[in-house]
Amino acid sequence: MPAVKYQKGEKVMGRWPGSNLYYEVKVLSFDSMSQLYTVIYKDGTELELKEQDIKSAAGFQARSRSRSRSRSPGRRRSRSRSPARTTRRSSSRTAAAVAAAAITDSVPSSRRETRLKDTLEVRPSPLVISTSHSYLHLYWSHNIDVKFTPTRLQNPFNAVLVFDLSHPSVLYVLTGFFAIVVSAVVVAVALHQGLDLTYIHSHFLQLAVATFLIATLLSVYLYVRSRYAPQEQLALGGNSGNVVYDFFKGHELNPRIKDFDLKFFCEMRPGLIGWCLINFAMALAEMKQQNLEAPSNSMILVNLFQLLYVVDGLWNEEAILTTMDLMHDGFGFMLAFGDLVWVPFTYTMQAYYLVRHPNPLSFPALTAIVILKLVGFYIFRKSNSEKNAFRRNPSDPKLSYLKTIPTATGKSLLVSGWWGVIRHPNYLGDLLMALAWSLPCGFSHLLPWYYMIYFIILLVHRDSRDMSECRRKYGSAWDEYCRTVRYRIIPCVY
Ligand code: NDP
Repeated sequence: MPAVKYQKGEKVMGRWPGSNLYYEVKVLSFDSMSQLYTVIYKDGTELELKEQDIKSAAGFQARSRSRSRSRSPGRRRSRSRSPARTTRRSSSRTAAAVAAAAITDSVPSSRRETRLKDTLEVRPSPLVISTSHSYLHLYWSHNIDVKFTPTRLQNPFNAVLVFDLSHPSVLYVLTGFFAIVVSAVVVAVALHQGLDLTYIHSHFLQLAVATFLIATLLSVYLYVRSRYAPQEQLALGGNSGNVVYDFFKGHELNPRIKDFDLKFFCEMRPGLIGWCLINFAMALAEMKQQNLEAPSNSMILVNLFQLLYVVDGLWNEEAILTTMDLMHDGFGFMLAFGDLVWVPFTYTMQAYYLVRHPNPLSFPALTAIVILKLVGFYIFRKSNSEKNAFRRNPSDPKLSYLKTIPTATGKSLLVSGWWGVIRHPNYLGDLLMALAWSLPCGFSHLLPWYYMIYFIILLVHRDSRDMSECRRKYGSAWDEYCRTVRYRIIPCVY
């Protein structure tokens, strides 16, 4: 095993991800599996860095001294800025500020203003023509910090325009809702032309296997191209040098073909829209197999409930940009398989089951299930929106009634509102909805309960992963939050 270059406790210079800025950090640990160093900045921020993003302090100072002789005063001044030196208020500086700092430090002063202008300049005109949008969001890769600049425009589809400051030429137009509407129109036209969608039910396994092969081929392509990707575009994980592990985990963070972001597309389009399409095909297959003029009420419930979930996800699509999947995980087999195969072919199990096992619901049962779904959806949407709004703009006057705990990173934690009741109110809402998806199928078989069981395991595991990640990020502030908000997902129980 190769020797570890930097030792625990050693003070070194660590690159701030996505920039050319180096700050003094202390090495906390080294993970031989991922080959990453966990380091802590002076303000308490902990990050995982690759070896090539670390320099020894002595070597760095020697190089800096020799280079600084030829530098402009402006450049020297900018280098003294660091996340470690920021005050609580300024440490939550925006992506634009971070990017500006990076640019200021790495570009000679003669070209600096032009480059900075190029990077930050918003050029909405062609996009305003091509799509209507309500928000202009500025993101920075790795989501170390995010600047949202809301610009409300007329917008029937809630499309969102996103600039990625790490790739100044790249910007996403998030049109998830528009995509599902277009897909629905295409399906309607195809049905009108005589397409038999029940084929999806009769060839379910074949389609699943074919999609699995596509996901595998895609993963091979992703792995091969990642070998040629620049270092700064690789994911922090999936970078171990072990071919099998890196193939599985994903080596490149956001592989793109020109401006087309493959990971974002797979996360939000084929799987989610395919899920709804398969459910719909199951409703048609049920009518055909059971000689019904309309789908059973249980099939209608399952279809509508899951459609609502997907449409809500696509409508609020920008939330994906702050998730672990998009910001930290590389795009490899794990995500390709999950997005393209797992979601559409296993989340449709309730509808698949109902085709052969119709389960007509009495009116009271139907009403109870609908109420359960609506309660779950209300908790899920309200709690997610509360946190998203707070993260987007912590000083939003509409949120001033919420109590918070400051943390060393400059971010605060909510300790009242939904996040003051339990630590994951959004998971509780999601679980109640999952229950409402399985109940219409009755209790005679385990298959339709697969999602509920899988989801409990997934969310409990995700919760504990998030707990340790937050403890690492926020230290004693997180412990204080946990003391104040004792329960994780179910009030007074868990
Ligand atoms: P969360 O949206 O709960 O995000 C957790 C993060 O929120 C933490 O890392 C922290 O990040 C921030 N946070 C935690 N507590 C607080 C607080 N008190 N105040 C402010 N910020 C806080 O987790 P997920 O990304 O796992 O889930 C998002 C949604 O997606 C959920 O509704 C979940 O149910 C759903 N989901 C659905 C799946 C499915 O297959 N159907 C799969 C996975 C998730 P930071 O401080 O850095 O902002």
